[in-house]
Amino acid sequence: MVIIAKFGGTSLKDAKRIKNAATITTELKKQGNVVVVVSAIGDTTNFLIDTIKNIDAVNIEKTVNEVYLRYLNILEEIKTPTQKDKKQLKTFCDNLEKRLILSQQQKNASPEDVDHILGFGEIFSAFILSRAIKQMDYKTKILCGNDNLIFTNANFNNADVLFDKTYPVLKKRILPILDENIIVFTGFIGTTIDNKTTTLGRSSSDYIASLLGNALDAEEIQIYTDVDGIMTADPRIVKDAKVIRQMDFNEISELAFFGAYVLHPKTIEPAMEKNICVKVINSFNTDSFTKIFKKMPEDNKNILSISSKKNVVLLNIYSTRMLNTHGFLAKVFTIFEEEEIPIDMVSTSEVNISLSVNEYEPKEKIQNIIKKLSKFSSVSLEKNKSIICVVGEALKHRYGIAGKIFTVLGNNKINVEMISQGASEINITFVVNDNDVKKAVIALHNELINNNKGKKYGKS
Ligand code: ADP
Ligand code: ASP
Ligand code: MG
Repeated sequence: MVIIAKFGGTSLKDAKRIKNAATITTELKKQGNVVVVVSAIGDTTNFLIDTIKNIDAVNIEKTVNEVYLRYLNILEEIKTPTQKDKKQLKTFCDNLEKRLILSQQQKNASPEDVDHILGFGEIFSAFILSRAIKQMDYKTKILCGNDNLIFTNANFNNADVLFDKTYPVLKKRILPILDENIIVFTGFIGTTIDNKTTTLGRSSSDYIASLLGNALDAEEIQIYTDVDGIMTADPRIVKDAKVIRQMDFNEISELAFFGAYVLHPKTIEPAMEKNICVKVINSFNTDSFTKIFKKMPEDNKNILSISSKKNVVLLNIYSTRMLNTHGFLAKVFTIFEEEEIPIDMVSTSEVNISLSVNEYEPKEKIQNIIKKLSKFSSVSLEKNKSIICVVGEALKHRYGIAGKIFTVLGNNKINVEMISQGASEINITFVVNDNDVKKAVIALHNELINNNKGKKYGKS
């Protein structure tokens, strides 16, 4: 039996949490084989991003010294570091420094530099967790995604996995050493065929765990985090959000895609393909979790959850040429394809198409899209928008929820734009102004979840 256990940055924030992760891992090893996937410790990734943004000689030295001391301190709380441990830490820091200096000399860090630099976060983390596990008398083996293991294309910062190349290699390299060792695997990073480090997008360590689960035919993929599981809303927005004990793959896909960042949206696909159960578990309260699997039991028809995604831009395309013609939508989508910009939401009428894209997409590409679209339509762009998504089987099985949603928003004077409902009928998605998102989510949670006592929407 193989278990994949992934620990997020929040679950590895300090020595106490790292020791806790090591204990969970060794307990799992008593039941079967374990691959543990790590994110960068705490806010390391953001810290490295800040350094890259303000890159100069002083800042580089400050960052590298701070990183060395930070990790040495954590290590000292876990065990007495040997000379070898210190030398290893120093080598990582020297390599980080070299790459930072290289980027500084080029004036601007390229996307390739950024991935190489950010990848150090996960490499440090694997090294430290492995030392904590060793301290408990278990053998470990560190494997890094960029050491010819997670193969991707060269789309730096958000690379796509080359599955046919990756899966067989993971099997071949891991299975022979799995009985004897706890494998500590870096999240987030991969490699191009010609050996350049890539990253798979922010928060993608969950996805790496799922890829490993698929490759090794794991029994379970366990995602350890800082909340009690998937909840009826983001607990940072809704203080009385409740844990949902079970969800199916379709529901979690919608929720994760539209903002419930507790699980990276790409995590679902590899797990679903092999029908592997995914659990989202609180690393400090392991009895509390959400179980995600293929088929929902009957009594879960009342599940409902709300997610939101800020920083979205809307593109409204208007053209009377759309009337009674074919091929118009294809023309529009081809332009997005050419510029490699993903679309989140679409809604259409006879003469109008509204599309939403992430505000962080490169500005030049959005401008190119507008230029191309303007040749055959009039285009307007609206910024500072948010997507809200209400997801759950309840939408399919109970009448009147859509009516309730828009009544609540109307009563709260929240303007709604662009409404869409997926063919699966388990989500209703719409756009509001960024300023209104918090108010909208709280009001909807109150009406749809708190005011439905007697109906089961999660653990109360
Ligand atoms: P990790 O470091 O473990 O990867 P993340 O910050 O990526 O942690 O994800 C956990 C956070 O996701 C939680 O602290 C919570 O604030 C947020 N979150 C957003 N939506 C939800 C939701 N529906 N259920 C649970 N947590 C959510
Ligand atoms: N460390 C990376 C990030 O902060 C990846 C992850 O946490 O999953 O985005
Ligand atoms: Mg995460």
